[in-house]
Amino acid sequence: MVFEIRPHPDFSWSQSRRSTFRECPRKYYWHYYGSHNGWLDEAGDEAKRAWRLKKITNLHMVLGTIVHEIAADAILRVRGGGAVPDAAELIEEGRGRLNRAWLMSQQREEWERRPGQLTMLMAFYRGSGPSRDLIETIRDKLHACLRHFLLSESFREAVAAPAVEVKEVDRLDFIELDGVKVYAQPDLLYKLGDAWRIIDWKTGARHVSHAPQLRTYAVYLQERGDLPKGPVIGRLEYLGTGDAVSVPVSERECAEERQRIADSVAAMRTYLSDPVRNEALPRDRFPLREDTRRCPQCPFFELCETELEAAGASGPF
Ligand code: SF4
Repeated sequence: MVFEIRPHPDFSWSQSRRSTFRECPRKYYWHYYGSHNGWLDEAGDEAKRAWRLKKITNLHMVLGTIVHEIAADAILRVRGGGAVPDAAELIEEGRGRLNRAWLMSQQREEWERRPGQLTMLMAFYRGSGPSRDLIETIRDKLHACLRHFLLSESFREAVAAPAVEVKEVDRLDFIELDGVKVYAQPDLLYKLGDAWRIIDWKTGARHVSHAPQLRTYAVYLQERGDLPKGPVIGRLEYLGTGDAVSVPVSERECAEERQRIADSVAAMRTYLSDPVRNEALPRDRFPLREDTRRCPQCPFFELCETELEAAGASGPF
């Protein structure tokens, strides 16, 4: 395969892109435009830094990925004839993965060379590592999420359902809406009787944005042609607490979500100088976040710090 260097990235839409755009236009710029080609040796210093910073993560995010992978893997193994795992086995697997992320994050020089392949936790990038309190919080959360997963309706039903699809981390499925590539694959999808179940596992707290996210998955099903074939039940499963919330995903809700995606795409495109080439406006046209109190926790803080200081938004008070 010939590797082509392109001056501008492809435009696509995803829920994480929408939430980054809503959170801070400048962060959106760094993530989707300012870091483009930052992996190339000949890239400018700013693009290289933005690319590295984009790869920084935190323990809550790492935990979320690990729980999703372990849950998906457990379903596939049981469906393949394996024994139902017990919580201790899954927790041990999760502990091992968290420990590997923790160790990897201490190889700073190696990470600087290969930021796309290694994990770097923000707490190590900026300091000496996660606090004891945070480590205990994450350990408790790992135990709770995996125990609740084994007790969940989705696990019980998915291992018995005739057909199941689980999201694969390294294979992102997309659909096309009005010519825009939309990444929207649910965590878990299965059919019981003639009804589809769309499941989204959450390892964090409840948030108003979760129901629209699930409806995007229903649009994904609709585009695949599966939705009209039977009723759909949407469910958010909060693995940290064991709670579950049903989300209506009727034709009407899907139509509304389609419109919200179209509106979001249109808003993002107002920051382009050339929508055909997906060429972004200059960086300073992407405003800094209005409420700057959370900026020090942002991975891109070091790229914005001078501007934030000049705006009087940075400092000890
Ligand atoms: S540091 Fe603040 S202004 Fe800069 S990208 Fe992050 S959130 Fe936005």
